[in-house]
Amino acid sequence: MEQPQLPSELSSVQKNLLQSDALHEYILKTSVYPREHKLLKGLREENKKHPWSFMSVPPEEGLLISMLLKLMNAKKTIEIGVYTGYSLLTTALALPEDGKITAIDPDRKAYEMGLPFIQKAGVEHKIEYIESEAFHVLDKMLHEMKEEELYDFAFVDADKHNYSEYHERLLKLVKVGGVIAYDNTLWLGTVAASEEESESLHPALKLYRVPLVELNKSLAADPRIEISQVPVGDGLTICRRLY
Ligand code: SAH
Ligand code: CA
Repeated sequence: MEQPQLPSELSSVQKNLLQSDALHEYILKTSVYPREHKLLKGLREENKKHPWSFMSVPPEEGLLISMLLKLMNAKKTIEIGVYTGYSLLTTALALPEDGKITAIDPDRKAYEMGLPFIQKAGVEHKIEYIESEAFHVLDKMLHEMKEEELYDFAFVDADKHNYSEYHERLLKLVKVGGVIAYDNTLWLGTVAASEEESESLHPALKLYRVPLVELNKSLAADPRIEISQVPVGDGLTICRRLY
């Protein structure tokens, strides 16, 4: 399936699953903006110049990812779907000095837009950026990676219809006890839409709704992982590899 270009009308969509905008604003103003790293804030501002800035991970989700990485003592991570790098810079700031991130995205131009912020933050040395679609890279890793090189954490935020395929590969590339986190699993709340309601959705939303509904079902039934579906941002499913 070819990746659709998400329409710019979506840029006005607030990634907020809370039913009260006032409560969302409250959380952002009270607990999120004061704690957002100044270069992440800068990158978020810079993103506004780009028509698809709504794709970046929102700052309240960034703080959760950062907390999780630190609680886990993650050192080695992989990210699929970088865009301009909000989640990547979040990760790079959360990892220790000798931490390593493999970041995969075919859109180098978007990555380069965010790169000055990563450089200014002094964390570029932790990042290995691979300009590619993910399948090819993951399959190569499956052949080459040794047991002791497995990842602590994977963040998946790319082509939603391929998440199930990435899942099978990542379960071999992330160590036992490690975490795979999938973004946008509530797809602006549309995963709960009835058949009838989903008929009238914007085609771009409609396209990924079914794969995400299927993914959510299969993650919930997967005995190899423990899961937590977190309604932050657009829905983040945190999976911990059990065996
Ligand atoms: N995590 C990012 C947002 C990612 S947006 C942030 O916080 O800003 C989704 C990204 O997935 C886009 O940049 C797109 O180029 C990338 N993408 C789409 N298909 C992909 C694939 N097959 N492999 C890797 N990346 C892909
Ligand atoms: Ca996302």
